[in-house]
Amino acid sequence: MHPEIIGVHFFCMICKEIIKYIEEWAPKEIAWQKDNVGLQIGTADRKLKNILLCLELTNEVIDDAIKKSCNFIISHHPLLFSSLKKIDLQNDKNSKLIERLIKKDITLYSAHTNLDFTRGGVSFELAKVLKLKNIDFLTHAKSNQYKLVVFVPSTFTEKVSDAIFEAGGGVIGEYKRCSFRTNGTGTFRGSERANPTVGKKGQDEKVEEVRLEVVIDSWKVKKVLSALFKVHPYKEAAYDIYPLENSGNYGSGAIGELENSYSKVEFLKFISGQLKVKNFRYVESPKNKIKKVAVCGGAGSALIQEAINANADAFITADIKYHSFHDAIGKILLVDAGHYETEIHSLNELKRRLSNYAGINNSNIKIFKYNGSTNPIIFYNN
Ligand SMILES: [Zn+2]
Repeated sequence: MHPEIIGVHFFCMICKEIIKYIEEWAPKEIAWQKDNVGLQIGTADRKLKNILLCLELTNEVIDDAIKKSCNFIISHHPLLFSSLKKIDLQNDKNSKLIERLIKKDITLYSAHTNLDFTRGGVSFELAKVLKLKNIDFLTHAKSNQYKLVVFVPSTFTEKVSDAIFEAGGGVIGEYKRCSFRTNGTGTFRGSERANPTVGKKGQDEKVEEVRLEVVIDSWKVKKVLSALFKVHPYKEAAYDIYPLENSGNYGSGAIGELENSYSKVEFLKFISGQLKVKNFRYVESPKNKIKKVAVCGGAGSALIQEAINANADAFITADIKYHSFHDAIGKILLVDAGHYETEIHSLNELKRRLSNYAGINNSNIKIFKYNGSTNPIIFYNN
């Protein structure tokens, strides 16, 4: 039915609204330093039709986007990773993909290691597919947060806190606008050159103030302070910034527990079913029962020791080298379930979040997952 017939008005959205929403969840700043996340090709100002999600861009993905009227493709793996030296439309595969996207007015954007390192991201989704409970990061990222304490005249508390929240301060996990407030008395005496908002220069003043405390991610400090200075009534606002040792909102891999413990054979069968993989590599388990399980979507060899240290009975990841398998013998049931197979599930969570966001904003854009497979690996069975 046409929306106007039933009196429903849909609002149009532009790519950058979706990008802003994704980056609130998976900030670019938490990505691996050498990664290249964010806008890849096109413009973020494009008026959105529909969105297509994929792990990586191929010609078939572009075909599917065109078929489904998608003019925004979000890939997990960036198309542009190493530096582009030339655009060779005759011999270079990526160059041809770039040309096609531009000619078809399609924007390409990537959320890669930022999606790996955020809560609810790639590894959390893998943990959910394996039905783990009490999921947390396998390793928490080094603290990247600060505590901002600002002293505000009581009547300005809401104005100042609103400005801090709008600039991205006060986020703890799934909660926004988090702060703590204590009433107190501020004292000061302005010099002869001062021009105090309250009282007179050269005189002792006492003002009812609130000590307002919020946490801020390191990359938001500048923005939060500038928003704060704009609305704080004092010319020289009193504030402190403390580095935090908290574990923060980001990390690598995920760990959790199965509802019931499995025998090794049952667990391997369970992995095969849940991840829809017929063949995968593993090393013998030192334990008979599997209950505590660590995972990392994609190449997670660097976390094998972390999984052992966390007393996990099993670690499921991908791209494991021969010698790493050797090192795990007698320590942990180490499973290489495939790069594509351990990451593809993250598109479900991305689709769920984006569909929800579009719905909240009364937009009728649709979010699709690429319906083919971009996995290039084939198993040979004799
Ligand atoms: Zn990957």
